[in-house]
Amino acid sequence: MDLASLTQTWTYPTKIHFSCGSSKKIGVFCEEAEILKPLVVVDQQLIKNNLINPIINSLITYKIPFELFAEFEENPTDESVSNGLKSFRKNNHDGLIAIGGGSTIDLAKAIAFMDAQSRPIFDFEDRFDWWRRANSKGIRRVIAIPTTAGTGSEVGRAAVIKDTKDLRKKLVFHPNMLPVIAILDAELTIGLPKQITAATGIDALVHNLESYLAPGYHPIADGVALEGLKLIKNNIEKAFQNGDNLNARCAMLVGSTMGAIAFQKGLGGIHALSHPIGSLLNSHHGLTNAILLRYVLAYNYTEVLEQLACIARYLNLEGGEPKSLVEWLINLLETLEMPNKLSSLGVDETHIPELTKMAINDQAAASNPRPLEASIVSSIYNDALQGKFKL
Ligand SMILES: [Zn+2]
Repeated sequence: MDLASLTQTWTYPTKIHFSCGSSKKIGVFCEEAEILKPLVVVDQQLIKNNLINPIINSLITYKIPFELFAEFEENPTDESVSNGLKSFRKNNHDGLIAIGGGSTIDLAKAIAFMDAQSRPIFDFEDRFDWWRRANSKGIRRVIAIPTTAGTGSEVGRAAVIKDTKDLRKKLVFHPNMLPVIAILDAELTIGLPKQITAATGIDALVHNLESYLAPGYHPIADGVALEGLKLIKNNIEKAFQNGDNLNARCAMLVGSTMGAIAFQKGLGGIHALSHPIGSLLNSHHGLTNAILLRYVLAYNYTEVLEQLACIARYLNLEGGEPKSLVEWLINLLETLEMPNKLSSLGVDETHIPELTKMAINDQAAASNPRPLEASIVSSIYNDALQGKFKL
């Protein structure tokens, strides 16, 4: 199917406009979302390479007054949220447009959420039912335009924000943080460098995979995850080998959105072990997942044989067995030139006790198919450090 020529609007779990070039019609979408004066939260890189120009031109054509907010860290912190909130309030904005990777979209969602709150941001960390502490009225609307195919933050109800006090990345959650409109315009992902295409694509793959393997009865998420995996399997290498392949870019963007829809069911050990490395060493999230994938899968393997076989059959992998899937994944990681040892991220043995402590308390650990106790987690970290992989 020629995805690049399609124009589709889906309404689950939010309004999703899927069409190449659709971001140039942002003025129409602002009217649809009833945002009259947006604050545009945007990656600095997109301003530098002029990728944002057609979007800005549309706002000008539609006579929509706006300001840009681009001064924030790559991994947004509570301070980035406060600064964004100051800009938002100073100019009396009434909503936000987020253009960029997952962290930019997360930042915009956090600003929109915090405009209605009087308590500090980490009072709303995704623990127990802390989100009920929030004032849910007055949370601002966000239109999300992803420029990478990875996190799926455009359809998520949470934001990853780094705490400047303890340097940990924390998940802030509220159901109303879900953007009102997500715009999937694959033209914006055309310029992504190869390594980012690979690492973000693997993140999207892992979201679908971990959701499918997470215990619990959630056939809706399972169905989404299987189809998301298929889209990524059929397109990730094409997008990596030829970044201009618009059809592959379209499929990757949808596969990434589907991963985030699926992981409402839960993630697992790959994310639980990856988050602490990202917090301590500022490593790229997708790249860290790519390294951990095989080691966590080796630990879970005997517990998820049936699910792995199901995926292998759905993806038409030769043999259709659990092993076929693992072999395909390892070959894929090699084709995408992903490293296979944590040492490549600067991790050494001295980091393992702290990483382990953080990983067992990570929210994603709870939905891993096998229990993740401290001794298990540190042995997985050790294996990933030394490249010791065995099924
Ligand atoms: Zn992820």
